[in-house]
Amino acid sequence: MPTATPSSTPSAAPASEALFARARAVTPGGVNSPVRAFAAVGGSPRFITSAKGAWLTDADGNEMVDLICSWGPMLLGHAHPEVQAAVQAAVARGTSYGAPTVPEVELAEEIVARAPVEKVRFTSSGTEASMSAIRLARGFTGRDVVVKFAGCYHGHVDALLASAGSGLATFAVPGTPGVPASATELTLVLPYNDREAVTAVFAEHGDRIACLVTEASPGNMGVVPPEPGFNEFLSRTCAEHGALFVSDEVMTGFRASRQGYWGIDGAVEGWTPDLVVMGKVMGGGFPAAAFGGRADVMARLAPEGPVYQAGTLSGNPVATTAGLTTLRLATDEVYDHLTKAGEVVKAGVTDALDAAGVAHAVQSAGTMFSVFLTEGPVRDFAEASRTDAGAYAAFFHAMLDRGVYLPPSAYESWFLSAAHDDRAIQTILDALPDAARAAAAAQDPAAGTRA
Ligand SMILES: *Cc1c(COP(=O)(O)O)cnc(C)c1O
Repeated sequence: MPTATPSSTPSAAPASEALFARARAVTPGGVNSPVRAFAAVGGSPRFITSAKGAWLTDADGNEMVDLICSWGPMLLGHAHPEVQAAVQAAVARGTSYGAPTVPEVELAEEIVARAPVEKVRFTSSGTEASMSAIRLARGFTGRDVVVKFAGCYHGHVDALLASAGSGLATFAVPGTPGVPASATELTLVLPYNDREAVTAVFAEHGDRIACLVTEASPGNMGVVPPEPGFNEFLSRTCAEHGALFVSDEVMTGFRASRQGYWGIDGAVEGWTPDLVVMGKVMGGGFPAAAFGGRADVMARLAPEGPVYQAGTLSGNPVATTAGLTTLRLATDEVYDHLTKAGEVVKAGVTDALDAAGVAHAVQSAGTMFSVFLTEGPVRDFAEASRTDAGAYAAFFHAMLDRGVYLPPSAYESWFLSAAHDDRAIQTILDALPDAARAAAAAQDPAAGTRA
């Protein structure tokens, strides 16, 4: 990760800086999830004290248009009155019983009605959901090997924090200290959008592969959509070899479209994943995630079947109430609004970066989009890695100084909400020209173009 120079103007956030110093004294890096620390863009992270609609307020009283939306979940905007009322009513009834409740049944019904799953099991995080989906795939098939793509993130599951081995069909190596080689020696990591690589590993290891897991449309290396027919090809290849196709829709689910990315992909082409991993939007801003899929596969899960999986707070009544209320309010009008607002923001970004002479690629997957500061199209992790991180850091800080809170990393999706109204969008558009010029001034002449 490059360390970039933050803006040279005097700090506009002394209270956040003081809080960051306090936080660092008691928490590694001062944060509870690494990207929040601003390490990739430099400077001190803002401590958020409240949020409403499209706006965040930090500890210094700065108001910022939020383009992170909690990394996706806040589809309706912050502190939505109906979600808040439902949550407050749920809290008043007690917060956790360790016994079945009504809202978890209702949320499961809502998810089964929208997503390509027959049965669903709740967890508290996307990490747990993908870990459990992989255990279930292994338990169902009686096989051990898992195939994933470089640049796809499925939470911090040991077996999936893996980097490609030395050759295409060689097993992976740990992607971080703390993951033993034994945890990744059954993982194969391939370049995204590469059909030949998929065909080759299935030809060599097909009878050992329990599942292939992929983001339905990757959003964790920036938005890198599957090439037309790629997911259908993956689904078919898995089926031909008796492996399960696991589609990770934690980010795209109920966000890219009403039915997630599948709604603009499998639902149109006529295929369904065997298992789907979900999270973010379906938790409505609370810790709730899920995995689901074919009834015969899900039937292998305890207590119906032998594959163990559990959670003290799984299906928590407050979290599932927030998720249920959010999904019920996530109507076609919400997705139309996200599409239209996204078009305006994307056009503004393109115009500003064009005018400033900054190489860029704005890529979309349904209502999701991101901005790469490199020439496009970006089709895989190697191409995403060409983005000019220093120019992005300058762009990020110039936007922040003008009241727009972008993801503090060049490799992330930008998130809008139903609450991004004309005033919020205009604030973004007004900030873009100066930020594009800041990016131009910071450009690395070696980055941004193809090698
Ligand atoms: C965020 C994310 C996860 C992990 O979810 P957590 O709730 O952070 O554990 C998994 N997969 C994808 C695609 C994600 O975007």
